[in-house]
Amino acid sequence: MVKAVLFDLDDTLFDHRGCARDALAAVQGCHDRFRSMPFDALERAHAGFLEELHAQVMLGRMPLEAARIERFRRLLAAMDVPSSEGLAARIAITYRDTYRTARRAVAGAPALLAAIKPFARIAIVSNNLLEEQQEKLRTCGLDGFVDALVVSEEAGTSKPDPTIFRVALDRLHAWPGNAVMVGDSWAADVVGARRAGIRAIWFNPDEAFAPVGEAPVPELRALEPVDAALRMILDSNRD
Ligand SMILES: [Mg+2]
Repeated sequence: MVKAVLFDLDDTLFDHRGCARDALAAVQGCHDRFRSMPFDALERAHAGFLEELHAQVMLGRMPLEAARIERFRRLLAAMDVPSSEGLAARIAITYRDTYRTARRAVAGAPALLAAIKPFARIAIVSNNLLEEQQEKLRTCGLDGFVDALVVSEEAGTSKPDPTIFRVALDRLHAWPGNAVMVGDSWAADVVGARRAGIRAIWFNPDEAFAPVGEAPVPELRALEPVDAALRMILDSNRD
């Protein structure tokens, strides 16, 4: 039976996408150009800049605060809004304040971790900043269930590098054969776990298609009902 469960945090246990949508809806009210744009298009454009700049922050090439403002400066520029640094900074504050207020777990996450806890140790493996992820765990009431929080900022390595998964296993005193990794990103979570010799479960609430040519893995469509998710996770290393 599984003795160590590794979880991704953003969009697996923590509802990053929901919080980002709430924050972007608030941003949409900040400028006429945003208001005239379909929300989906705004979301796509924002997500692209977020991804680009998150990578820069993770590589230590840009401070987090500067990246938050730069994201909206680029978004304004992409919409031909003559932007001032001040406007981008004000929008960044609106986004951040709304995001923080909206912080919430994915439905079923606290109950699932509580159900796993008597059977297995739990680690979070996340490509993000330590303080940011600690706050999310606390705000969502998940911190009491987590035995180890391994973030790329602290570990000095990111998923899908197998090293970060090995750090998590070490902290849980576990080994690949009695561990499982649950995460929503095929490229980071499924591929990374496999490279580390750990079985993976793909959290796939959108019912997306797996990449062509990749060996299939069990898919979890929701964390609820908790009993079904618990069985899939704990029984995942039985052939
Ligand atoms: Mg994720």
